[in-house]
Amino acid sequence: MKTIIITGSTSGIGLGIAESFALAGDNVVLNGLGKADEIEATRARLAALGAGEVIYHGANMLKPDEIADMVETTRTRFGGVDVIVPNAGIQHVEKIEDFPPEKWDAIIAINLSSAFHLIRAAMPIMKDRKFGRIIAIASAHGLIASPYKSAYVAAKHGILGLIKTVALEGAEFGVTANAICPGYVETPLVAGQIADTAKARNMSEEQVINEVILKAQPTKQFVQVGQIASLAMYLASDQAAQITGAALSIDGGWTAQ
Ligand code: NAD
Repeated sequence: MKTIIITGSTSGIGLGIAESFALAGDNVVLNGLGKADEIEATRARLAALGAGEVIYHGANMLKPDEIADMVETTRTRFGGVDVIVPNAGIQHVEKIEDFPPEKWDAIIAINLSSAFHLIRAAMPIMKDRKFGRIIAIASAHGLIASPYKSAYVAAKHGILGLIKTVALEGAEFGVTANAICPGYVETPLVAGQIADTAKARNMSEEQVINEVILKAQPTKQFVQVGQIASLAMYLASDQAAQITGAALSIDGGWTAQ
């Protein structure tokens, strides 16, 4: 049985990963924004899936001390932390000359710096236990750019640099660090992005789906949350011990072009 912390797991990809680990019987620490009653319903539903415990910690990814408290709470409750998934993320799509500086700051803080704070707090525990799996949810935008996403692309490229660095630092301690780089996944984050991109490019939402989003992916299909969760499960397993410092694309061929 493993203990896993997944940031931003009240929705989308994080929630899908939480479900897979709960089903496998692991202890899961949920995190993310949302209404208290809905989060409790999600927690109870996941707890009923498997043998492990599922708890919720409300750390705001803008607050380093709350992130450290989430790791400490997990260590106290379960005796350690085996897997961390820095996943929480937000998006804002706008031309750079109009890009609000406060949006830049928030995206860098939530999509990049929160991963640093999480890894920084968990690394000593993982090194001590000679086992750890750091699985960051980056993006195809960690490898390539698209217009109007300056902060997001910068943050995701930063995640890849962070992951490579901690992979080297953890290598002799049984701690691996990898980044999953999904293409477009149908989640609430992408729903918001479709609307914003339509505005930025003066297109209809249907045009954005067909001419921007699925045009980027040669398979012409969205990536499914469950497919990302399966890759995360594999990276957490003993079989993946020699995969470290890698950026793993799951993007329907987008970045092969
Ligand atoms: P989502 O909007 O469904 O979920 C985002 C999660 O982050 C939510 O649980 C939300 O509550 C949480 N969150 C946001 N701000 C937070 C804060 N300040 N503190 C704590 N939690 C916070 O989005 P998603 O599509 O599931 O995205 C998850 C990750 O996957 C993000 O890092 C995103 O960049 C990445 N990603 C998504 C796609 C996609 O197409 N959906 C593609 C590539 C990468």
